[in-house]
Amino acid sequence: MYLRIISTTCIALATAFWFQLASAQPEPRLSGGNDLRTMARDPFQVFDNLYFVGIGEVGSYVIETSDGLILLDTLWDNPGYTEYLLGNIREVGLYPMDIKYVIILQGHRDHYGGAPALQKIIDARFGTAEEDRKLMVEDFGEWAPRIDFIIEEGDSLILGDTRLDFENTPGHTPGTTSIRFSVFDNGTEHLAYLHGGPLLRTKDPGAGQVFIEDLWRIKQIPGIEVQIANHFDIAARGAPDLFERAELLASRQPGEPHPWVDPGHFQRWLTELAEDTRAYLAEPD
Ligand SMILES: [Zn+2]
Repeated sequence: MYLRIISTTCIALATAFWFQLASAQPEPRLSGGNDLRTMARDPFQVFDNLYFVGIGEVGSYVIETSDGLILLDTLWDNPGYTEYLLGNIREVGLYPMDIKYVIILQGHRDHYGGAPALQKIIDARFGTAEEDRKLMVEDFGEWAPRIDFIIEEGDSLILGDTRLDFENTPGHTPGTTSIRFSVFDNGTEHLAYLHGGPLLRTKDPGAGQVFIEDLWRIKQIPGIEVQIANHFDIAARGAPDLFERAELLASRQPGEPHPWVDPGHFQRWLTELAEDTRAYLAEPD
């Protein structure tokens, strides 16, 4: 009888606690990788129409079109991030109020956490894949960002002179989205690929197979010369990381190649990633 009372009390307490959790704004998840005191970075222009506005660990980019801006991923929800992201956009000479679309490439907090606060400030349409919309709701509940449109495999977004082609590339999350789009280097067009989650995060063999098959399929897409990294260290082995490339870009002399335009690197990176993914799947749990 005594035990029964205890367990009933426990259930009542647990229920009360759960309700409190369900309605409370998610606690910031602070770590060395998202501490702005060490992770803040100067934003910079990568191409004529592409700007890096992320942190030392995670990428976030702005595409400038003839009819406004497109923001790719929104960084964390931790205190100071909204001001940081908007500040970076202003620092490269763009106006946050010109953002027409925000694309969330994956439902992990370092990529979408900043979206709800951003929605209170900018009047833009937010899109992501359905599977990752669900992930955000599971994680953030009523605090999840508003999603205005669902991105499906093969969808395109056209804004002014710019077109983004979306691909569904699951594996990091169930609804990871990747993008093909053109970037311009002093007016010269190059095809770029931004993989929204290039690291398998499940040991499910079927999902692993889909992830690897996608990498091989991406390798066959003709004409991709530029890899855009969603984390600073997404690169082929031995290749410069995002900020090392930024230094090369800053010291580039007239006539020298753009450090991001490297089709061989893109191919090597995909091959290595497929090999690494196979090894990861073969590892015992
Ligand atoms: Zn992630």
